[in-house]
Amino acid sequence: MNEDILGQLNDSQREAAVYCDGAELVIAGAGSGKTRVLTYKIAYLLQSGYRPWNILALTFTNKAATEMKERISNLVGHDKARLLSMGTFHSIFSRILRTEVSHIGYDHNFTIYDQGDSRSLIKTIIKEMGLDEKQYNSSSVADRISLAKNNLLTAHDYSSSIHVREDVERKVPAVKDVYMRYAERCRQANAMDFDDLLLNTYLLFARHEDVRQKYVDRFRYVLVDEYQDTNYAQQAIVMQLTRDHQRICAVGDDAQSIYGFRGANIDNILNFTKAYDNAKLFKLEQNYRSTQMIVQAANSLIRHNARQIPKNVFSDNERGEKVVFKQAYSDREEAAIVCKEIKRIKSREKCGFGDFAILYRTNSQSRSIEEEFRKSNVPYRVFGGLSFYQRKEIKDIIAYFRLVANPNDEEAFRRIINYPSRGIGDTTLSKIATTANKHALSLWTVASQPLVFGLEANRGTYAKLEAFCSMISAWQAVMQSVDAYQLGQDIIKGSGISKEIYEKREPEDLARQENVYEFLAGLQDFVESRREEGDGEHVYLSDFLQEVALLTDLDSDSDGDDKERVALMTIHSAKGLEFPNVFIVGLEENIFPSPMSCSSLRELEEERRLLYVAMTRAEKRCFLTCAQNRFRYGRVEYGTPSRFLQDISPEYLKKDEISTPASPAYYRGGGQADGGYGSKPKWMQNPRPVASQFKADPKPRAVPPRREENAPSPFSEEFEKRLKVAKLRLKPVTKAEIDELTAPTVSEDVGISVGNVIEHQRFGIGTVIQLEGRGENLKATVQFTNSGTKQLLLKFARYKIV
Ligand code: ATP
Ligand code: MG
Repeated sequence: MNEDILGQLNDSQREAAVYCDGAELVIAGAGSGKTRVLTYKIAYLLQSGYRPWNILALTFTNKAATEMKERISNLVGHDKARLLSMGTFHSIFSRILRTEVSHIGYDHNFTIYDQGDSRSLIKTIIKEMGLDEKQYNSSSVADRISLAKNNLLTAHDYSSSIHVREDVERKVPAVKDVYMRYAERCRQANAMDFDDLLLNTYLLFARHEDVRQKYVDRFRYVLVDEYQDTNYAQQAIVMQLTRDHQRICAVGDDAQSIYGFRGANIDNILNFTKAYDNAKLFKLEQNYRSTQMIVQAANSLIRHNARQIPKNVFSDNERGEKVVFKQAYSDREEAAIVCKEIKRIKSREKCGFGDFAILYRTNSQSRSIEEEFRKSNVPYRVFGGLSFYQRKEIKDIIAYFRLVANPNDEEAFRRIINYPSRGIGDTTLSKIATTANKHALSLWTVASQPLVFGLEANRGTYAKLEAFCSMISAWQAVMQSVDAYQLGQDIIKGSGISKEIYEKREPEDLARQENVYEFLAGLQDFVESRREEGDGEHVYLSDFLQEVALLTDLDSDSDGDDKERVALMTIHSAKGLEFPNVFIVGLEENIFPSPMSCSSLRELEEERRLLYVAMTRAEKRCFLTCAQNRFRYGRVEYGTPSRFLQDISPEYLKKDEISTPASPAYYRGGGQADGGYGSKPKWMQNPRPVASQFKADPKPRAVPPRREENAPSPFSEEFEKRLKVAKLRLKPVTKAEIDELTAPTVSEDVGISVGNVIEHQRFGIGTVIQLEGRGENLKATVQFTNSGTKQLLLKFARYKIV
């Protein structure tokens, strides 16, 4: 069996996969099979007798972890793959903290603050301390604190570190005090931000040798993908887990290090061999992903970086077409060119829309492409950006959930104490906060016993506080006995949010209703899929919160149907992925390289690596585009092609500069250019104000489903039915569809046996390969054509035999 598996690797990959004599570092170019080596190594370890739970694999995104698990599942079976410890640093360590956190003085139901929560708390603190808010910009202070945590500096350490001197020089000497207060407040609220998940794991292991030892014994092999982008804290934890046995395998590519701004350090890779004395270094140089032309073009670009480990990446794939560069007259024309090209290739090659990706430097660039795609009926999906869970109405609902799970959560408390409005104003809130600070207690503790803490308020306010606190306490009391979906619905209704949102009829309200509707569908989906996977009859709100808190902006909502949609994403989110055809848009000075990085060589090199990452996502074709006139920040800007285009050797690049004659249809302002291309049109000299439609929706996503004006309330039967349909992704609903979906799909007495082909509502067509358990506990292992192998608890599974 081993032979079979390893036969799918080349010699150098195989050598790296079977090496188990100590620390190992695989440094290799893009597309050379690093992730493949990790995947096969895990399969190999499992076949050599390692138990799945003894293997820890750390990936950069949740998506990468899911994909890797699925591949391993195909190699060694679902049963083993299911039990692997595999996920992002944050998800794995937050799970460890849930179990062990009492050792460092937290309660296991701690809340995870997202970036918005932590910024808002920092802002509150800056205000409370009477600091000048211009001088102490909350997001820069948050960045300083984050950087400190990623370097494992607690608030106390920070006060005596060299950073304090830097802060004095930057004229923000009080950052250390803000950090100190912020840390205290997080503790009072029993909350951790994303960086704390790492810092606290590190402290837990550093201060509690027995706990560290427990996890060293458990994780007998540790594997890390994208090692070049790990930060100091992540490396330090990996060291804590592996320094005794040195069974670590890290893979990475220094040429793809793109998180310098977040504290990831290209020197990681260079320092690995210092940290692990006998580390063995492996190199892989053959790229299996891309055509020769793409590999050579990307090599010629990255050669301009001074800081790098020399590598000779080559491809034996077909020679392929040159990388194409097209300059458009305007951003609209750029979008039209991309769209036309996609349609042309698609009809010529009979491939799917899922074979195309559009990559850009920053999220906001997706808008013009989206407009064009919508007009031309090209299905697409936007990855990343402001996540669904960051929308106001969703954050409000989640704040209720969080307060129910952890009443000490300060940010959740502040968010909803008076939402929907219940007459508890800012004055009362600030009195609660002052009293809570005085006693070093949470806001909830004071609000729920105002008389005990001598909170000054009138009788009406006491009554309102009591009503609020008893509503939350009632939900707390049933939290461990009522299903997440049921409780979630009760909360949305009981809190008054549904009334608030469903009573109004403005267009934005419809969008908000849409979101609540989708949120509930998602919650129900979560509950049912957990059940199907056999995780018990009840799935509680805390399980859902844990999952939601860890969705990063690099992950998107889980939505199976990507094969038929063009992917739109930032280059950062595209790391590790591959697509047959890649369009990199907006290659202009001032966008790419980002203007903020042009002042230092180091940052410019990081931008160049970013373009290298983008180009190396392409398998067959790579297009680079830019526009001469671009509508940004409410006006038209004149752009010149990115300097990086000069770095790509002309033998691999086909330049197609402004090919389409400027046509009025492409002018953003609608006017005619007066000087032909090359000179600025007149209307650009007096920029027009932003048209409101261009400001709309900072978070464009997949084409929004249409919604009728008179949508049912989420508590009606009709809504229930529709939720089921929504799981098929909110297409416009017909009566026939509702009937079909709500008809019983499985009856207990329909015999199911190995070999049956079934159609599952989410996973599609698959063959039953194994059955185990009886009656209520009957589980089927199904090999799905497009979704890998899954184990389903038949009692809850939604499928039919075909
Ligand atoms: P990146 O640097 O972008 O993360 P990587 O080094 O992790 O890339 P992989 O994603 O593992 O590369 O591999 C790139 C592609 O090449 C994948 O489709 C993979 O399946 C394929 N591949 C790698 N090695 C082989 C091989 N020996 N035989 C066939 N296909 C291979
Ligand atoms: Mg990879």
